[in-house]
Amino acid sequence: MTDFVTTIAENVARVRETITDACTEAGRDPASVLLIAVSKTKPAQAVLEAAAAGVQHFGENRVEEGEIKIPQVTIALHMPVTWHMVGHVQSRKARDVAPLFDVVHSVDSEKLAAKLSAALPPGKMLDVLLEMNVSGEASKAGLDAANWERDAEQRAGLFSTARAIAAMPNLRVRGLMTVAPLVEQAEAVRPVFISLRQLRDALEQELRSPLPHLSMGMTDDYPTAIAEGATMIRIGRAIFGARV
Ligand SMILES: *Cc1c(COP(=O)(O)O)cnc(C)c1O
Repeated sequence: MTDFVTTIAENVARVRETITDACTEAGRDPASVLLIAVSKTKPAQAVLEAAAAGVQHFGENRVEEGEIKIPQVTIALHMPVTWHMVGHVQSRKARDVAPLFDVVHSVDSEKLAAKLSAALPPGKMLDVLLEMNVSGEASKAGLDAANWERDAEQRAGLFSTARAIAAMPNLRVRGLMTVAPLVEQAEAVRPVFISLRQLRDALEQELRSPLPHLSMGMTDDYPTAIAEGATMIRIGRAIFGARV
């Protein structure tokens, strides 16, 4: 048996091919799906390799790790990349997250949004996504949205939270994000992606402003997420290898 080790560049190429295939099948333009390479637990060097392969968007899930890695990458790279916070943010960490990241996918309370808004350096706008727990898993972060279609009270609560956050200074609500449950078959999570898309459509009507982004799909399920309308996919292991 030969030892076969794929490089980050090869992995990026393979993921891009899969994105193109999924888009072709869904009748979508591959340019409508943003690839975010989730570099959590991986060193700055791995980010540089992915950037050399053309990746321009990176995701981290812990602010402490971003505080070390992001400046290292910025110094070493001659082109700007965009940093996405994809992990749960505690309100007390908002002041560290606001200046460091360009997009926060995991806004799940008015309190967090208000703290992010207040902590932004002068002149900085922050793009945010509202994280929705549409699967109802107890372990999941996000606003409780498991019954948004059936439960008028839950739906009204979500709408009012979204309206309040959209009104906060220097935050731009750009769409919704979800983390699907871990399952054996990617097909099993399709209803979660459909539900997030439909919730986005409903919220767009309610707010009367566009919510173009659906951040959904990870290594195990991104072709399904693309089929259901994902505009941002968050890929860790398929690019950087297993996390130890
Ligand atoms: C780690 C992580 C990812 C990437 O997961 P993979 O399965 O390695 O692709 C995506 N989104 C969030 C929120 C994560 O924490």
